[in-house]
Amino acid sequence: MANVILEAKHLSKAYPMRGGSQLTVLEDINLSVREGEFISILGPSGAGKSTLLRILSGLIEPTSGKILYHGKPLEEAFPSIGMVFQSFALFPWLTVLENVEVGLKVKGVDRETARQKAVKMLDLVGLDGFEDAYPRELSGGMKQRVGIARALAIEPEILFMDEPFSALDILTADNLRNELIRLWIEKKLPIKSIIFVTHNIEEAVFLSDRAIILSHNPATIRAEITINIPHVRNKNQKEFKLTVDDIFTILTRPKTEVPFMLRKERYQFLPHAKVGAIAGLLELVLSKGGTIDISEVTTDLGLEVDDVFPLIEAAAFLGFATVKEGDIKLTEEGINFSRSDLLQKKVIFREMALKNIQLINQIYQVLTTTEKKRMSEDFFIEILENHFTKDEAWNQLETAIDWGRYAELFAYDYDSGELYIEEPEIEQIEKA
Ligand code: ADP
Repeated sequence: MANVILEAKHLSKAYPMRGGSQLTVLEDINLSVREGEFISILGPSGAGKSTLLRILSGLIEPTSGKILYHGKPLEEAFPSIGMVFQSFALFPWLTVLENVEVGLKVKGVDRETARQKAVKMLDLVGLDGFEDAYPRELSGGMKQRVGIARALAIEPEILFMDEPFSALDILTADNLRNELIRLWIEKKLPIKSIIFVTHNIEEAVFLSDRAIILSHNPATIRAEITINIPHVRNKNQKEFKLTVDDIFTILTRPKTEVPFMLRKERYQFLPHAKVGAIAGLLELVLSKGGTIDISEVTTDLGLEVDDVFPLIEAAAFLGFATVKEGDIKLTEEGINFSRSDLLQKKVIFREMALKNIQLINQIYQVLTTTEKKRMSEDFFIEILENHFTKDEAWNQLETAIDWGRYAELFAYDYDSGELYIEEPEIEQIEKA
């Protein structure tokens, strides 16, 4: 067996929140990286992938647990690590060549050697002739080639890549993926391992030897899948499709379908999904007879986990569907909902949201209790910020408002930033 380069043991990461509580982002992560491995870390947005990558690379510290680099604690080991970011992170005032030389100079490499290495790496990534260009003169794909050349120039043992292709258009991303894997299998890259973060299942299956699949809120390792398909892989291959299907099944398996009232776990995390999109998914499943294989959904709706995962999760949370062994199956309520007209849909949605969705239930309780049947959004944000980051608190409230409005449980006043319960029209007429 090849040498273990990096080992993570019982890593956890929590961020302090307002009011003294903690947001646990990673929980008890254990993994090891061997020489020659291309590993992908896969999970939905916000799962904690970047946080994990930053901890593994020593950029930030874990709250507990440790990382060993060739058997030594990271602090003592001076690991040799290169980073490629989604945002390219180039210095706009430096030329392409100077951008690649930066890391080498920081490491104390002399001018001449730095220049030679940088030129060689630029050549490797197909940027021969662009040495004197400035980043603003380059396309996104070329900028990322510079990012990759810069990370490779220091000849790191491990190359960390954080969603490096997700800001690029589909064709450019495909090209870069193909080139990356070719250079990797032909052993032209001056590195021993790659750790690659992505939310795109096909990308992980195309590139990696092993996919580490994270759950979210908090992130734990749900599964590790070894991918043995020979390179260069093709997404139309049967084996490729089966692997994608397996991973999707793991990702979408709900942690629990127990109603929130009975749960002892932390605050429920609402998937960011609009009612219209959830209804669309349910209709699609109904049109296929009420049960559908997850891979069918992905081919019909597009494959990004970020697109489909929240919809499936939301449908399961609301009690409209169950997810088992790669199939999404509508519940009785899900079937009724999909078959009903808009008015009836709203009635069913209202009932399910009140029963199954903690935040909607709470907002509704608060609003019905107050005399004016109104409450400022800040009140709910205050509560949510004890459980989520500021941005996430707003995301949660926004989703709850979307669902609550659809269910006609409450409405939102854009001018005052208040949530309120609309009085039925009949009462208004009587009052008039
Ligand atoms: P991913 O890379 O999977 O999209 P991240 O690792 O960026 O996920 O973030 C995971 C969670 O941690 C998110 O809820 C995010 O808001 C939170 N988070 C990340 N960095 C910080 C920080 N410095 N302080 C508080 N929360 C953070």
